[in-house]
Amino acid sequence: MMQAIDAFGAAAMVLVLGDFGSTFLYHVPAHLWMRLHLRTHHDRRRSYWDHAVLSRDRGVLLDGFLGALPYLAVAAATWHLSPWGTLLGLALGQLHVWWRHTTELGWRTPPALARVLHRLWIVLPEDHDGHHRNPDIEFGDIFRFYDAPARAILAKLAPTSRRARNAAGRVSGNRDPVRA
Ligand SMILES: [Zn+2]
Ligand SMILES: [Zn+2]
Repeated sequence: MMQAIDAFGAAAMVLVLGDFGSTFLYHVPAHLWMRLHLRTHHDRRRSYWDHAVLSRDRGVLLDGFLGALPYLAVAAATWHLSPWGTLLGLALGQLHVWWRHTTELGWRTPPALARVLHRLWIVLPEDHDGHHRNPDIEFGDIFRFYDAPARAILAKLAPTSRRARNAAGRVSGNRDPVRA
Protein backbone atom coordinates (compact mmCIF):
# COMPACT_ATOMS: atom_id res chain seq x y z
CA MET A 1 0.00 0.00 0.00
CA MET A 2 2.74 2.45 1.01
CA GLN A 3 4.54 1.62 -2.20
CA ALA A 4 1.48 2.51 -4.24
CA ILE A 5 1.16 5.85 -2.41
CA ASP A 6 4.86 6.60 -3.00
CA ALA A 7 4.51 5.68 -6.68
CA PHE A 8 1.46 7.90 -7.10
CA GLY A 9 3.22 10.73 -5.26
CA ALA A 10 6.34 10.45 -7.41
CA ALA A 11 4.31 10.40 -10.65
CA ALA A 12 2.22 13.39 -9.52
CA MET A 13 5.34 15.36 -8.53
CA VAL A 14 7.02 14.70 -11.89
CA LEU A 15 3.94 16.00 -13.70
CA VAL A 16 2.92 18.92 -11.45
CA LEU A 17 6.40 20.20 -10.48
CA GLY A 18 7.84 19.36 -13.91
CA ASP A 19 5.14 21.41 -15.61
CA PHE A 20 5.76 24.23 -13.11
CA GLY A 21 9.49 24.27 -13.92
CA SER A 22 8.97 23.88 -17.63
CA THR A 23 6.39 26.67 -17.78
CA PHE A 24 8.19 29.23 -15.63
CA LEU A 25 11.85 28.39 -16.26
CA TYR A 26 11.61 27.64 -19.99
CA HIS A 27 8.30 28.26 -21.76
CA VAL A 28 7.63 31.78 -20.42
CA PRO A 29 11.28 32.95 -20.84
CA ALA A 30 11.31 31.37 -24.32
CA HIS A 31 8.28 33.44 -25.30
CA LEU A 32 9.80 36.61 -23.86
CA TRP A 33 13.39 36.50 -24.97
CA MET A 34 14.19 33.60 -27.29
CA ARG A 35 13.59 32.77 -30.91
CA LEU A 36 13.96 28.98 -30.84
CA HIS A 37 10.56 28.05 -29.38
CA LEU A 38 8.61 30.53 -31.50
CA ARG A 39 10.49 29.45 -34.63
CA THR A 40 9.90 25.75 -34.03
CA HIS A 41 6.83 25.19 -31.86
CA HIS A 42 4.75 28.13 -33.04
CA ASP A 43 5.43 27.81 -36.75
CA ARG A 44 2.01 26.83 -38.10
CA ARG A 45 3.59 25.57 -41.32
CA ARG A 46 5.31 22.78 -39.42
CA SER A 47 3.61 19.43 -39.13
CA TYR A 48 2.27 17.38 -36.24
CA TRP A 49 5.61 15.54 -36.16
CA ASP A 50 7.58 18.71 -35.41
CA HIS A 51 5.03 19.99 -32.88
CA ALA A 52 4.94 16.64 -31.08
CA VAL A 53 8.79 16.52 -31.10
CA LEU A 54 8.72 13.33 -33.19
CA SER A 55 11.20 14.96 -35.47
CA ARG A 56 14.83 14.99 -36.53
CA ASP A 57 14.94 18.75 -36.86
CA ARG A 58 17.68 19.98 -34.51
CA GLY A 59 15.80 23.10 -33.46
CA VAL A 60 12.69 21.06 -32.68
CA LEU A 61 14.68 18.55 -30.63
CA LEU A 62 16.53 21.27 -28.72
CA ASP A 63 13.26 23.05 -27.89
CA GLY A 64 11.76 19.74 -26.75
CA PHE A 65 14.83 18.88 -24.68
CA LEU A 66 14.90 22.27 -22.93
CA GLY A 67 11.19 21.93 -22.19
CA ALA A 68 11.75 18.40 -20.82
CA LEU A 69 14.73 19.28 -18.58
CA PRO A 70 12.61 20.43 -15.59
CA TYR A 71 10.63 17.15 -15.71
CA LEU A 72 13.92 15.21 -15.73
CA ALA A 73 15.25 17.27 -12.81
CA VAL A 74 12.15 16.46 -10.75
CA ALA A 75 12.44 12.81 -11.84
CA ALA A 76 16.01 12.70 -10.50
CA ALA A 77 14.70 13.98 -7.16
CA THR A 78 11.72 11.57 -6.92
CA TRP A 79 13.69 8.49 -8.03
CA HIS A 80 14.57 7.39 -4.47
CA LEU A 81 10.90 7.70 -3.48
CA SER A 82 9.68 5.40 -6.26
CA PRO A 83 11.49 4.54 -9.50
CA TRP A 84 8.30 3.07 -10.98
CA GLY A 85 6.22 6.08 -10.06
CA THR A 86 8.88 8.37 -11.51
CA LEU A 87 8.93 6.41 -14.76
CA LEU A 88 5.12 6.43 -14.85
CA GLY A 89 5.13 10.24 -14.45
CA LEU A 90 7.67 10.66 -17.26
CA ALA A 91 5.72 8.27 -19.52
CA LEU A 92 2.42 10.07 -18.87
CA GLY A 93 4.14 13.40 -19.54
CA GLN A 94 5.50 12.11 -22.84
CA LEU A 95 2.11 10.68 -23.85
CA HIS A 96 0.55 14.05 -23.07
CA VAL A 97 3.04 15.78 -25.41
CA TRP A 98 1.89 13.56 -28.26
CA TRP A 99 -1.80 13.71 -27.31
CA ARG A 100 -1.97 17.49 -26.89
CA HIS A 101 -0.91 17.99 -30.51
CA THR A 102 -3.45 15.59 -32.03
CA THR A 103 -5.88 18.38 -32.93
CA GLU A 104 -3.75 18.67 -36.07
CA LEU A 105 -4.59 15.03 -36.79
CA GLY A 106 -8.31 15.66 -36.38
CA TRP A 107 -8.76 14.56 -32.74
CA ARG A 108 -11.79 16.04 -30.99
CA THR A 109 -12.17 15.30 -27.28
CA PRO A 110 -15.63 13.86 -26.49
CA PRO A 111 -17.60 16.51 -24.53
CA ALA A 112 -18.12 14.28 -21.47
CA LEU A 113 -14.39 13.53 -21.22
CA ALA A 114 -13.56 17.21 -21.78
CA ARG A 115 -15.76 18.18 -18.83
CA VAL A 116 -14.08 15.68 -16.51
CA LEU A 117 -10.55 16.63 -17.58
CA HIS A 118 -11.26 20.35 -17.29
CA ARG A 119 -12.42 19.79 -13.70
CA LEU A 120 -8.99 18.26 -13.11
CA TRP A 121 -7.33 21.29 -14.75
CA ILE A 122 -5.83 19.09 -17.45
CA VAL A 123 -4.83 20.70 -20.75
CA LEU A 124 -6.80 19.21 -23.65
CA PRO A 125 -5.49 19.15 -27.23
CA GLU A 126 -8.09 21.82 -28.02
CA ASP A 127 -6.66 24.05 -25.24
CA HIS A 128 -3.10 23.57 -26.44
CA ASP A 129 -4.17 24.24 -30.02
CA GLY A 130 -5.32 27.62 -28.69
CA HIS A 131 -1.72 28.26 -27.57
CA HIS A 132 -0.42 27.42 -31.04
CA ARG A 133 -2.93 29.79 -32.64
CA ASN A 134 -2.36 32.59 -30.15
CA PRO A 135 1.02 32.34 -28.36
CA ASP A 136 -0.18 34.77 -25.67
CA ILE A 137 -2.72 32.36 -24.16
CA GLU A 138 -3.10 28.82 -22.77
CA PHE A 139 0.17 28.30 -20.90
CA GLY A 140 0.89 25.16 -18.89
CA ASP A 141 1.90 21.97 -20.68
CA ILE A 142 -0.30 19.61 -18.72
CA PHE A 143 -2.14 21.73 -16.13
CA ARG A 144 -4.25 24.78 -16.82
CA PHE A 145 -3.68 26.35 -13.39
CA TYR A 146 -0.30 27.58 -14.63
CA ASP A 147 -1.92 29.68 -17.35
CA ALA A 148 -3.00 32.68 -15.24
CA PRO A 149 0.31 33.15 -13.37
CA ALA A 150 2.25 32.64 -16.61
CA ARG A 151 0.24 35.33 -18.35
CA ALA A 152 0.68 37.68 -15.39
CA ILE A 153 4.47 37.26 -15.58
CA LEU A 154 4.44 37.72 -19.35
CA ALA A 155 2.45 40.94 -18.98
CA LYS A 156 4.82 42.24 -16.28
CA LEU A 157 7.95 41.49 -18.26
CA ALA A 158 6.50 42.44 -21.67
CA PRO A 159 8.54 45.70 -21.84
CA THR A 160 11.75 43.62 -21.72
CA SER A 161 10.66 41.17 -24.43
CA ARG A 162 12.11 40.69 -27.89
CA ARG A 163 8.76 41.76 -29.28
CA ALA A 164 8.97 45.11 -27.47
CA ARG A 165 12.60 45.58 -28.54
CA ASN A 166 11.75 44.84 -32.15
CA ALA A 167 8.78 47.20 -32.08
CA ALA A 168 11.02 49.94 -30.61
CA GLY A 169 13.58 49.23 -33.33
CA ARG A 170 10.94 49.62 -36.02
CA VAL A 171 9.67 52.90 -34.56
CA SER A 172 13.17 54.41 -34.38
CA GLY A 173 13.86 53.27 -37.94
CA ASN A 174 16.54 50.89 -36.75
CA ARG A 175 16.07 48.01 -39.16
CA ASP A 176 16.26 44.82 -37.23
CA PRO A 177 15.78 41.82 -39.52
CA VAL A 178 14.86 39.61 -36.57
CA ARG A 179 11.18 39.39 -35.75
CA ALA A 180 9.51 37.96 -32.68
ZN1 LIG B 1 2.51 22.58 -28.71
ZN1 LIG C 1 4.70 28.36 -26.63
